[in-house]
Amino acid sequence: MFSVFKKLSWYFKEQWLRYTIAIIALLFVNLLELLPPKIIGIAIDEIQYQTLTNERLVELLVWLIGVILLSYLLSFFWDYTLFGRSILLERRLRSNLMNHFLRMTPRFYGSYRTGDLMARSTNDLKAIMMTAGYGILTLVDSTVFMSFIIVMMFFTISAKLTLAALIPLPIMAYIINKYGKKIHTRFMQAQRSFSDLNNYTLESVKGVRVTRAFVQERQDEARFGEMTEDVFQKNAEVAKVDAFFEPTINVLVGLAYIIGIGYGATLVFNQQISFGDLVSFNVYLGMLIWPMIAVGDLINVMQRGNASIDRVEHILAQEPDVHDPPHPKVIKIPEKIEFKNVSFQYPETEGYQIKDIDLSVKRGQTIGIVGKTGSGKTTLMKQLLRQYVPPEGWVLINQIPIQDFKLDQTREWIGYVPQDHVLFSKTIRENLLFGSGWKTDEEIYQMLESVDLKEDIDQFPEGLDTLVGESGVTLSGGQKQRVSLARALLMDPEILILDDTLSAVDGKTEANIISHLKEEREAKTTIISAHRLSAVQYADEIIVLDNGRIIERGTHNDLIRQNGWYKRQYTIQQMVEV
Ligand code: ADP
Repeated sequence: MFSVFKKLSWYFKEQWLRYTIAIIALLFVNLLELLPPKIIGIAIDEIQYQTLTNERLVELLVWLIGVILLSYLLSFFWDYTLFGRSILLERRLRSNLMNHFLRMTPRFYGSYRTGDLMARSTNDLKAIMMTAGYGILTLVDSTVFMSFIIVMMFFTISAKLTLAALIPLPIMAYIINKYGKKIHTRFMQAQRSFSDLNNYTLESVKGVRVTRAFVQERQDEARFGEMTEDVFQKNAEVAKVDAFFEPTINVLVGLAYIIGIGYGATLVFNQQISFGDLVSFNVYLGMLIWPMIAVGDLINVMQRGNASIDRVEHILAQEPDVHDPPHPKVIKIPEKIEFKNVSFQYPETEGYQIKDIDLSVKRGQTIGIVGKTGSGKTTLMKQLLRQYVPPEGWVLINQIPIQDFKLDQTREWIGYVPQDHVLFSKTIRENLLFGSGWKTDEEIYQMLESVDLKEDIDQFPEGLDTLVGESGVTLSGGQKQRVSLARALLMDPEILILDDTLSAVDGKTEANIISHLKEEREAKTTIISAHRLSAVQYADEIIVLDNGRIIERGTHNDLIRQNGWYKRQYTIQQMVEV
């Protein structure tokens, strides 16, 4: 359980000075708090023995006020320092997690659900923060402060009385230990079901349109109800154990009071301690309640922190399965891309999704990839994005294996427009300039013309500065596709990959865009996959994929002559267009 402090030791080491100062201030406040009961005891004794003069009373009161003022200032200081540091730790871990998420590949996102990752980045970080702040406070108070009070009772009042009043202590230690373990298991369960709920909520919100279209709202609600109930139950279980702590401790402290008053009164009667001593003793007993609660809280907070740090560290320990090479090669411009006998299968799938691919693309060429849905077009193009471990065979750029380059370098060359477009909840301008950095309005508008989007944008109330996404206007599928395309074109990448990018625009718009593309991409490499064959017709080479293999290849005219799948598909599409 204490291992949580060990796991956080890197942070405590780094912040040792602030933690030391905070703890010293806290200890000083603890010492100061021991004085008032003693002062009160002295005052009572002096009243009883009628030795209290006016000056003496003022002196005692000044002492009291002094102690209160000093501990007020010091308390503010340690509180601010200790809890301030714990918030900083939370921020640190959050950035670590975010950086980590950004380095991870699809395989990682395949094995962890988004809701779970979100739960780890929020709830678990909060629990760790608690450990680094409140955990330290309870650690100090439940050990050092408690000892201070007991020592004070033992040496300045009566050893016998102290020992007697503390008989309930070992019982308490036993109970606390036993329930600490329970809390750990229950808390883990509660966090897990919170992860599930998070995930479910996310999917529900994302898929709300489909849910409505299939009239599944009631079922969705019912399922959500079950899941919140589960989270509630699991947390209620934690709360139950939690709630048990304080009353148990109060009962045991009550027992200590009974012994204190009962036995203490006898001692006063036998004149072994003074009346003032008895009062001080009982105030000290009262002061013991907090450190004893702190023991319970300490165990609780540490158990939770420990569970949470394990969950967070587990994520941070996941290595991305695609790395930068140890000795990266550097080239300026990718002149030639080659696929040599490339076969690839996604992790956890059976059989290959692309098989024995040979392909060579020179700078300035345009390559078309066509084929049925699921034939492997996306998979083939993704080999250049390096999201998965390298395939069998060779993917070469300027005859150097692609995995010998830094990931950033190859990704910098590529502008990828995926099928499922992602637009951020920002303005259209920000979305357009996402990869390219600042551009003049003129440049942007020129690009919008190329992708046939200018008129659409002009119709929006604030033009380029219109917000899109959740809090802004909703773009149609075709408009989104064109914004994504313009975003990639503005980067003017060496290699442009269009993955069925124009599927949601009409034939005429597509023809327009394609003719612009041809001009603009003349000197650079473009790879287009498309369902509509007119989009690849002008390509220098077209490959037809079926079941991951190339079944036909050549220029448009070659393929028409070959009289195979391409020709059949072309004829069908021509008929539909007419
Ligand atoms: P296309 O782009 O031609 O429609 P894809 O390359 O998307 O085809 O898919 C090829 C095959 O790979 C399909 O059988 C598909 O189910 C499978 N596939 C695609 N993505 C993944 C993935 N991330 N994990 C496992 N299998 C996948």
